[in-house]
Parts: sequence; structure tokens; C-alpha cells
Amino acid sequence: MAIVGAGLAGTVLAITLAKAGRKVALIDPHRVHHDEFRAEKTRDEQMGLFDKLGLGQVFRSLSTPMTDLHVFRFGQLFERKQTFEYAFSYAPLVNGMRAALPPEVPLTVGKVAEVSTGPDRQRLVLTDGSVIDARLLVVATGYSEAVRRAIGVERIEESKAHSLSMGFDLAITPQEFGLQSLTFYARRVADRIAFLTIFRIGERLRANMFVYRTVADPWVRAFRENPQKMLLDLMPEIAQRCGNFAVASEVEVRQVSLT
Ligand SMILES: Cc1cc2nc3c(=O)[nH]c(=O)nc-3n(C[C@H](O)[C@H](O)[C@H](O)COP(=O)(O)OP(=O)(O)OC[C@H]3O[C@@H](n4cnc5c(N)ncnc54)[C@H](O)[C@@H]3O)c2cc1C
Repeated sequence: MAIVGAGLAGTVLAITLAKAGRKVALIDPHRVHHDEFRAEKTRDEQMGLFDKLGLGQVFRSLSTPMTDLHVFRFGQLFERKQTFEYAFSYAPLVNGMRAALPPEVPLTVGKVAEVSTGPDRQRLVLTDGSVIDARLLVVATGYSEAVRRAIGVERIEESKAHSLSMGFDLAITPQEFGLQSLTFYARRVADRIAFLTIFRIGERLRANMFVYRTVADPWVRAFRENPQKMLLDLMPEIAQRCGNFAVASEVEVRQVSLT
């Protein structure tokens, strides 16, 4: 079996198929998955799926657990949820999963340039000219378009440029923060903010915010230039919980389309 793409999906599949005794080739252009802003939190249900695959322990070792979640609505503490969530940075998660690949599935570092498919044989040609033949081809190239298009699989966008995910670090320590996780829902619909959530990833205090805007919206530029001031205007209750916090990193912004 040939798996194109060693992100989280391709890597987990490669480990699972190898455990089932399949002969697997896993191909990706990068030996080390680069740092990028992606999913940073997952819930217990998803961890349960990793447990079923025998990978829960690996995932847990690469993430920071939270069990006590404080939720603010309309500026007030609304509820405390006792439930498991896990926080992580995507690249260390993928690289940690890759480290769990068994020796019989080495990562083939290469970029798939051509694909031809047939009823029982699939052929991949990499950019260096090498060829991989397999019975089954799995395309796990995430947001990349080329290989998916080459085999005629269409991405259906249910809602293009649906919302923005924003991520940034806060310059307070987890000890100063004192809590495991805080979620603030927006006070006003007109602000077009779904919610802001603050949580630990290791010793970093991380914030994710989800807003119904596009990257071209001048609001996004204004937020990037002065995130602390805008946050305090939008959700003044943050100051009660996080003191005189500062944003300690660049504000990363990714447009999300529902596909
Ligand atoms: C800001 C943000 C927040 C998100 N939040 C969530 C969330 O809360 N929950 C959730 O479920 N999802 C979330 N997502 C989506 C989630 O991150 C992705 O669905 C997931 O990471 C996709 O994993 P993957 O393994 O399919 O792809 P990727 O991790 O993108 O891996 C694809 C791999 O394919 C390789 N590749 C590409 N082209 C080729 C080629 N030609 N030859 C060989 N290899 C190739 C790439 O190098 C890459 O390593 C979020 C995404 C973003 C951007």
C-alpha cells in the first residue's frame, strides 16, 4: 500500500496498516513536518479513537491534558466543565507520531509528481524519477491539491472562507494563569467572534480565537497590530482572569473553509 502524505492522517494510517501486517510505503517531501498553525486541541472522544488504534499513549505523551474548563458567557463565569481535553502543537504531534513508525515503514522522503491508477495496480512517480508500485493508493495530502486532482477527487467547499482561526501566545506563565483552560464567548453578535479559548501547551499559554471574517477584512490587520487592546475592548473580563497580559507572539491567522 502506498500512502502519499505523512501528516497526522497518513502517519497514523501507516502505523495501523503496518500493525495489521501490511506492506506500506509512506511518502512525504519533508523528513520533519514544519511548524504551522493547525488544530491545537482535541477532545476525549477523538483520544478514544487513538486509543482504539493503540496510539493513545503516544498522543498523550505529545499533548497537555486539561480536565477543568471554565466557560464565560456574557462576561460572567457560566459553567465549569469537568471533562478531558488535550492541547498540542501540530508539528511536534506529527513528528512524534512519525517517531512511532515501526522500522518496516521508513518514511520515503520524496514528492509524488505523477500518479496512474488501475483496477489492481497503482503507480507513483516521484520528482527524483523513482517509481513506487502498490495495490492500494491512499492520498493523505491534506490541503495540497495536486495529487488529489490527479486522481480526480474533488474537494467540495460547503462554505468557502467560512471563518478565521487565530492563534497566539500570552505572556503569562501557566502558574500565574492558575487555571487549566478558559473559554470566553463573544458578548455581541455584531463582533462576529465565536469564542476565544486560552489553555496550556506545555509551559506556553496559548490562545485560539475563531471569528466570522475573511483575511482581507481590515479588522484582522487592526487585531494583528494591537491584539491586547482589541481583546480588552471585546472581552474585558479577560483582564480579571489573566491580569495585565500581553500577546507574546505573532498573531497567526488561517482562513477556514468548510469542505
Ligand atoms: C488553524 C486550523 C485549525 C484547525 N482546527 C482543527 C480542529 O480543531 N479539529 C480538526 O479536526 N481539524 C482542525 N483543523 C484541520 C486539521 O488540522 C487538518 O484536517 C489535518 O491537519 C489534516 O491532516 P492530514 O494528515 O490530512 O494533512 P497534513 O497534515 O496537511 O499532511 C499532508 C502531508 O502531505 C504531504 N504532501 C503534500 N503533497 C505531497 C506530494 N505531492 N507528495 C508527497 N507528500 C505530499 C505534505 O508534505 C504533508 O506532510 C484545523 C486546521 C487549521 C489550519
